[in-house]
Amino acid sequence: MSADPKVQDRIVYDLQEVSQRYNSTTALDSVSLTITSGEILAIVGPSGSGKSTLLRILAGAQRPSTGHVMIRGRMLRDYSPTTLRELRAATGFIHQDHRLVPGLRVSQNVLLGRLGQSSLMASWRSFLFPSRSELLEAHEVLERVGIEEKLFERSDRLSGGQQQRVAIARALYQAPCTLLADEPIASLDPIRSRDILKLLTEVAAERGLTLVLSMHDLALAREFCPRLIGLRHGQVDFDKSSSDVTQTDLDQLYRLEGKERIEDRAIQG
Ligand code: ADP
Repeated sequence: MSADPKVQDRIVYDLQEVSQRYNSTTALDSVSLTITSGEILAIVGPSGSGKSTLLRILAGAQRPSTGHVMIRGRMLRDYSPTTLRELRAATGFIHQDHRLVPGLRVSQNVLLGRLGQSSLMASWRSFLFPSRSELLEAHEVLERVGIEEKLFERSDRLSGGQQQRVAIARALYQAPCTLLADEPIASLDPIRSRDILKLLTEVAAERGLTLVLSMHDLALAREFCPRLIGLRHGQVDFDKSSSDVTQTDLDQLYRLEGKERIEDRAIQG
C-alpha cells in the first residue's frame, strides 16, 4: 500500500494475500493489490486464471477463503447485510452475456438497475410505475450509451452490441461509484468490442468512476486501460502501467505448459 496519505484516502480496494479455493482448485493464490478511486484498469490472463473470482470478491459477492479484503475503508468480513446492500448498490456489474431480461422492454431493463436500492415495495413501484423523472433518467443513460431510440423496444430484438449497451445503461442508472465488467466484449466482434471499450472507459472518466474490466484482448486492454494486472494460475504475474507492459510479460502470461501444450499441439495437428 502507498505511504502517501493522499493516495491512501483514495483507496477503494485493498486486498492483502487473498486466496480463494474451491475444493481442490486454487482460483486465487495470495493476491495483493490496491485500486484507487477513478482508476481504469484491466485484469488480463488466460481462462481459469481467476479473473471472475477476483471481480466477484471486489463486488462483495463472495468472501475469499483467506486474506484481507478492504473495500471503501471497511473489511469485507465486517460488512453487515445493510452495508453490503449499499456496497452492491454502489457497484455496477456488467457481465459478458449482459443478463438482460429478454421479454422486457429496454426501459424496464434499465429500471431494474435500481431494484433493491430501496424497500421491496418502493423498488417494485418504481419498476412497474416509473415516475416521469425516473423515465427521463433512464432515457438520459440510454442517450449516453447511444441507443435512446430503443427505449420501448423489446430487449431480445436488439443486437449483441446493443444489448451490451443496455447493460451498461442499467449499470449507470444505478448511479454507481464503481463499474466492474467481466469480459464485457468476449461475445462481440472486433469493431463492436472497440466501441464498447471506448464507451466504458469514456463514461468512467467523465463520471469519475473506478472501472475494473477483465478481458482477453491484450491489444485493446493496452489501448484503453492505463493499468494492466496480469493474472496467471490465480497469482499476480505483473501489475504495471500499460505503457510498461512488454511483449515478454504478455508472452509469459499466456505461455502454455505441460498438459496444455500437449493439447495445443494435438489441436494444431
Ligand atoms: P477466469 O475468469 O480467469 O476464467 P475463474 O475465476 O472463473 O477464472 O476460475 C478460476 C478457477 O476456479 C477455474 O479453475 C474455475 O474452474 C474455478 N472455479 C471458478 N468458480 C468456481 C466455483 N464456483 N466452483 C468451483 N470451481 C470454480
